[in-house]
Amino acid sequence: MTQPPAVDRTVPYFPGATVLGYPRIGPARELKRALEAYWGGHSELDDLQASLAGLRADTRRRLGRLGLNVDDAAIPSDFSAYDHVLDVATTLGAIPERFASRVPEGGVLDLPGYFTLARGEGDLAPLEMTKWFDSNYHYLVPEIGPDTPIRYADDRVVHQFLEAAGDGATTRPVVVGPVTFLLLSKPADGAPEGFHPLDRLDDVLAAYTELLHGLGEAGAPWVQIDEPALVSDTWEVPRERVLAALTRSLEALAGAVARPARPAIFLAAPYGSLGDALPVLAGSHVEAVGLDLVRGAVPGRDALAALREKVVVAGVVDGHNVWRTDLDRALGVLEQVRDGLGEGARIAVATSCSLLHVPHDVEREKHLGRELSTWLAFADQKVGEVQVLAQALLEGRDPVAGELGEAAEARASRAAHAGVEREEVRSRVAGLKDADFHRVAYGERAGAQAEVLDLPVLPTTTIGSFPQTTELRRARAALRKHEIDRDTYEAAMRAEIEKVVRLQEELGLDVLVHGEPERNDMVQYFAELLDGFAVTQHGWVQSYGSRCTRPSILWGDVSRPAPMTVAWASYAASLTDRPVKGMLTGPVTILAWSFVRDDQPLAETANQVALALRDELADLEAAGIGIVQVDEPALRELLPLRRTDHAAYLDWSVRAFRLATSGVAPTTQVHTHLCYSEFGEVIGAIDGLDADVTSIEAARSKMEILPAIHSSGFERGIGPGVYDIHSPRVPSVEEITELLTAAVDAVPARQLWVNPDCGLKTRRYEETTAALENLVAATRTVRANL
Ligand code: GLN
Ligand code: ZN
Repeated sequence: MTQPPAVDRTVPYFPGATVLGYPRIGPARELKRALEAYWGGHSELDDLQASLAGLRADTRRRLGRLGLNVDDAAIPSDFSAYDHVLDVATTLGAIPERFASRVPEGGVLDLPGYFTLARGEGDLAPLEMTKWFDSNYHYLVPEIGPDTPIRYADDRVVHQFLEAAGDGATTRPVVVGPVTFLLLSKPADGAPEGFHPLDRLDDVLAAYTELLHGLGEAGAPWVQIDEPALVSDTWEVPRERVLAALTRSLEALAGAVARPARPAIFLAAPYGSLGDALPVLAGSHVEAVGLDLVRGAVPGRDALAALREKVVVAGVVDGHNVWRTDLDRALGVLEQVRDGLGEGARIAVATSCSLLHVPHDVEREKHLGRELSTWLAFADQKVGEVQVLAQALLEGRDPVAGELGEAAEARASRAAHAGVEREEVRSRVAGLKDADFHRVAYGERAGAQAEVLDLPVLPTTTIGSFPQTTELRRARAALRKHEIDRDTYEAAMRAEIEKVVRLQEELGLDVLVHGEPERNDMVQYFAELLDGFAVTQHGWVQSYGSRCTRPSILWGDVSRPAPMTVAWASYAASLTDRPVKGMLTGPVTILAWSFVRDDQPLAETANQVALALRDELADLEAAGIGIVQVDEPALRELLPLRRTDHAAYLDWSVRAFRLATSGVAPTTQVHTHLCYSEFGEVIGAIDGLDADVTSIEAARSKMEILPAIHSSGFERGIGPGVYDIHSPRVPSVEEITELLTAAVDAVPARQLWVNPDCGLKTRRYEETTAALENLVAATRTVRANL
């Protein structure tokens, strides 16, 4: 497009506009289809390889059509067949011992072996999966021990660069950097006490050095090394050690090797401010530095001046959310950076992070309404935005006046839209009093609830969902396509609820659920019923591997036009004499798994959602539902990347939960469910939620968390999961008895509940019934021995 800025001879030209990464799933989820066809035995490995190569080629062409230069490293080469962290592990040949039999002669893992690491096989447990920074993308956790083989084992990165070159494109390979890779890793089984994966830094650097040589030889002008770990300080190693590792790694990769033996290095650190890592980058030999100027602050003048020798890749277009960029504001930021860099500044315009987190294309959404559509920018629109900004920076605003004007108009339309600021919602939030966040003391509630509910010691229950059968999915699809009417659909759901209630009665569970058959997704279900949300048709985002989610868009003030769950819960309650637990998704989780408006603090939005839920709880209570569970599996996931921000986050998130749940009578029992077992970081917050009963994941860690919970003084009900629902394995009565015995040894029995680790929606009925039978049997045994 436009002219290159003044170029330092020692640095190859860096494109004026680029993106740090692009969705890998394909606009029609081609990746998902190709992977699942192969896994399901419906296609051969060759077909899969061909589909993946085709997807890469389509992506390059698409980005070229969208205006990124095909011949100057503007297009990232960041494809992954499953996960980009797993890709580094296999590039380094860092394969955990248990997969040794899957590594062929010669040591290079083939694609089937790669999938085994990701998904497990028979008794071979896959790598653990966890959230990538504060996003809803899951990466696979590498396992690194003192003896894990580490060498440059797999030249996939070079190969894909050459593949693109053969197709006429000069791409920019993207790899997760060595420091981030090691900080995201966990010690391999059997690693000695005190070992940290960072202890293997030098071996890893040797392998990366070879990779860089390989790219140099292949003629890659640039490589992008992502080091997002630098923006966080929540690692279990001290900051000094992280910075020392960074210094060492930049010296090994950029200092020790001269160009052109290696490509020029663009070091990117998305998701926040670099803080004291910035001077380390400034003092290194990397040729370009990427700054996240959406989540992170603009560095001060001195810090910028120190970057004068580098290309600064300014991430001013939000890669993490779907709103159209305020181009004027972004341009202001870019100008500020340019001024700070001073004479001869070399600055490129980019997204703040990879576009992995956003859907492909707004244009495909035909049902969002014309107005809302103009407020949004998905991946393809963002590719356009970086180019407009790059041109404006170079040539001034005039040549792009039309684009700037349109963006400003869209912003104005958004600000003025009646649903964005609604008086009745605003005044209700503004009128909240401290009392709206409090229930009477737990002791008083516990007594009142015991009396009304009359439950046995160690009450048994489930987390909410029962298996989502093919028939249920089919009924939902048929309703969507208008093949059946609403009444037929509801009758099918009621039949399912009846089946689930009868099953629970037969099993002898104490607190029943309706089973959530009507929920497509625990957030989208509510988004579809609340005002202020929109739901996309094609807005898929990769969650992990072939799994995609379709986050809803929270665009306006939130309110609840009508009850959302009361009819289902009441119907279930009408079928049985036992207590039925109502089931809601909490405010923090609703925010975490949606694209949330960026024009007001999250805390404000959270309170609006909380008030809508508060009304729902009131209606459930009025309908005679005496127990309500409000799920907050995402509470920990939104924890900020900097420790200094934790307190403020936990404060508003806990308050939102309390606002949602504290309107009910003392006799109504409030449960919450959190999906994880890493309690340590947030135990104070969990206490702060003030739920009467909290269920957590505990089976895989064998109840290890309970002594800590007890010694922290936690006095309310706790339901440590007694079996792992992520696997089809049916736990034996003995196994569950053993776990329960450990639980009653650690925590007074009167506090304990008995339940699985999480919802059962992904399981089949055979497993579910067998496992719950054993759960009830084990509970009876343990009760008898109390
Ligand atoms: N109530 C939900 C269910 O059982 C909870 C799911 C979750 O914690 N992710 O499916
Ligand atoms: Zn869960």
